[in-house]
Amino acid sequence: MSVNLQGNTISITDQNTHHLANQMLDTQALPMILQQIHQDVIEEYGKGNVADYIPALAKVNPHQFGMAIRTVDEQEFSIGAADTAFSIQSISKLFTLMLALDIVGDDLWKRVGREPSGMRFNSLVLLDSEGGIPRNPFINAGAMVVTDIIAARSAAPARRIEEFIASLSGNDANRIDQLVAAGEQATGYRNIAIANLLKGMGNLEAEVEQTLDCYFKQCAMTMSCRDLARAIECLANRGRSHFKSSFHGEKMDKRINSLMLTCGLYDAVGNFAYNVGLPAKSGVGGGIVAICPGQYSVAVWAPELDHYGNSVLGQLALEKLTFYTHTSIF
Ligand code: GLN
Repeated sequence: MSVNLQGNTISITDQNTHHLANQMLDTQALPMILQQIHQDVIEEYGKGNVADYIPALAKVNPHQFGMAIRTVDEQEFSIGAADTAFSIQSISKLFTLMLALDIVGDDLWKRVGREPSGMRFNSLVLLDSEGGIPRNPFINAGAMVVTDIIAARSAAPARRIEEFIASLSGNDANRIDQLVAAGEQATGYRNIAIANLLKGMGNLEAEVEQTLDCYFKQCAMTMSCRDLARAIECLANRGRSHFKSSFHGEKMDKRINSLMLTCGLYDAVGNFAYNVGLPAKSGVGGGIVAICPGQYSVAVWAPELDHYGNSVLGQLALEKLTFYTHTSIF
């Protein structure tokens, strides 16, 4: 494959039409490719809506875009608002899963499944009929059980989660936005219902209020694309991180990445896997993180969401990234 900058556009030619599916990332071409992606996707501003269930998210300027890539050999490439902190929302479910697996190991799977739900992220429909065992750790119900594992075993659980995430990114400025957390709490009727149902069905150990408090706070963490790409480096690098030496991520990457591939974008995960071909996790703050195993981690942010609650430009940018670079897991 060759990539040439002609005027403002990149022309990508396949010398070999049967190219290898998962090629090595050509880091020399990457700055140009990121410029091209930026130029392509900003034409799509206005095609979605920012999350508006809490004022702190509703007032975010919708026309923003950032992207950061970090290779396993520590090179970083970024474009746009890659250093602007935003609300990570459901991306936090990835970090709490890592922490909870670190604490209880495979016992976690006695309380949470590993199948896609095909339902909205905050659906209650399957929970009752399936005995209070959520389909997977990335829908809200499953994430609450994961958070409950941490909450029931920690003196100051929200602080523990906050510090765990900050240690993964290596950035101490990554903190809970208390205003966003208060907004989550004030409008969290569905989440409160889910937690009560879980408790009623015997799948919460801590008090409902305690688990919910942690859940709302983890969603309110703020991080930039650069922070996120660093924080998930361990999932691209066989559990190794340059930032957190004490994280026991070995062997976890295969499991967590497969869950992201099948459940990371809720009921839009099939289309995403088809278009992008990388395991990923999204959040209603407009962020998406993705992993190319053995090669790089990437985070993208653009606040306008589609009907499924996934970033419109974020999905498009990742699709273009894997197309231009010929890197995907397939
Ligand atoms: N705080 C949101 C919720 O719990 C997070 C959802 C999301 O990012 N998909 O509903």
